[in-house]
Amino acid sequence: MSYALSDVHTHYDETVFDTDRDAVLTEMHRKGVELIINSGSSVPSSKRSVILAHQHDFVWASVGVFPLEAYTVEADWLEQIAALADDERAVAIGEIGLDYFQPDADRAAQERVFIPQLELAQTMQLPVVIHDRDADEDMIRTLRNHPASGMIHRFFSKARYGFAFLEMGLSLGIGPAITYPNAGDLIEVVRQMPLDRLLLETDCPFLPPQSKEGARATSDMLDEVVETIAQVRGDISPEQVAQTALTNARRMFKIGESL
Ligand SMILES: [Zn+2]
Repeated sequence: MSYALSDVHTHYDETVFDTDRDAVLTEMHRKGVELIINSGSSVPSSKRSVILAHQHDFVWASVGVFPLEAYTVEADWLEQIAALADDERAVAIGEIGLDYFQPDADRAAQERVFIPQLELAQTMQLPVVIHDRDADEDMIRTLRNHPASGMIHRFFSKARYGFAFLEMGLSLGIGPAITYPNAGDLIEVVRQMPLDRLLLETDCPFLPPQSKEGARATSDMLDEVVETIAQVRGDISPEQVAQTALTNARRMFKIGESL
């Protein structure tokens, strides 16, 4: 079964796609993936995202510097991101955020890169794609001080943080993590969240569903995610999950239905 899929967070510019990138993307479109957003995580990968978005009509770009790249930025990194965000194929600032997974993470350095990008998104009236790993409390505090519209990508925090993000008006990117046994909190949030805040994403090539663990993830694997979401909610079909997420993505990222 294939659905009208949208994958709002991908990294098709990664080297693991170097040998067959265009073939894979063409195949995704043929299989019913109607919209892909390729996410930058640094200045170079943001450039690659914009180039990729110019090469495929159904691919769009998100540009930004993510927290683990915050330590190595060049002096003019923000100007470079702003220039890329101005491209007609760029639809969001991201992925940006905070990552405290490593105990020695330089939190101040991450914040120095995160906050100016939140401000850039506000100035340019673009949505943000937020990376939050083990940083929920600081994330909520930062977003209270620097309001943004957009999404928490690859949401996988405790349920109470999911509800807090939803209360702040943010959407949640739900992906293959929901197919793994440790997804209890994620399932609790997905069961109760308003459907107009639901977005689908793989974070490919990094996160395949459990049934394909170890494989290179691609957007068509969201089939299993929409089926799981429909199953845990019980009030919506997989087709409706896919269609709702596609409509939400087009609305958030201001992408027309021309394709
Ligand atoms: Zn990512």
